[in-house]
Amino acid sequence: MLNSLNNASNATIMAAIFMLGASIGSFLNVCIYRIPKSESIAFPGSFCPVCKDPIPFYLNIPIISFLILLGKCKKCHTEISVRYPIVEIITGMFAVATFIKFGLTIEALFWFVFIAILVVISFIDIDLQIIPDILSIPGIFIFAFSPLIIPDMTIMDTIAGMLAGGGSLYLVAVIYYFIRKDEGMGGGDIKLLTMIGAATGWKGVIFTIFTSSLMGTLAGVTIMLVTQKADSKLRIPFGPYLAAGALLYIFQGDFLIDWYFNLIS
Ligand SMILES: [Zn+2]
Repeated sequence: MLNSLNNASNATIMAAIFMLGASIGSFLNVCIYRIPKSESIAFPGSFCPVCKDPIPFYLNIPIISFLILLGKCKKCHTEISVRYPIVEIITGMFAVATFIKFGLTIEALFWFVFIAILVVISFIDIDLQIIPDILSIPGIFIFAFSPLIIPDMTIMDTIAGMLAGGGSLYLVAVIYYFIRKDEGMGGGDIKLLTMIGAATGWKGVIFTIFTSSLMGTLAGVTIMLVTQKADSKLRIPFGPYLAAGALLYIFQGDFLIDWYFNLIS
């Protein structure tokens, strides 16, 4: 009896945290859409991008509004991109995952802010192949406070993380430039990995480089096989892979590192 009551209240808490995360995801959609255009993320409120009809608060409920409106603007019936509820669901799921892993702590808040910025950066990079400095540069300074918040993080670790993150990609970019006379690695990726290094330290950076390269290579080979084109100059945004690598480190890094070293030893 007590157990089922506990389960029921646990499910309610998880659902509430998911909806809170999804609401923040709704705001992240605004950021993804407006930050590259240098528009205010606070005013005006949400509106339909086609007919400019404002979206009232009661139709701005994450995921649910999309379902009620059947994915169409209520005035001009333009289809609303399925991307909006997807970003809301992703953010809601990360809110739950962060709560399960870190509880109601300041550390959980730190990582959730980090995740939110990575979500915005990833989708802007997918859309426009840029990573706005206005996100990554303040991010480097904000997440350099990690030694004050994250247990086991030291100031030396943060500094080493930033140097390893920024330096390693900078080196790759320089080598690539000399071989190909072309910019393969964007400056945006360098600043993003510096930000990731500030938050996760040198171990996080090495893990992120390793896993994101692996995922990027797998995705690249898959794209080449599917499209039957060996276009090595195809510009694949690397930001989402770096973000995925960093997220994997936060949630499963210790486990995967142990597993990997057991495998090779
Ligand atoms: Zn409309």
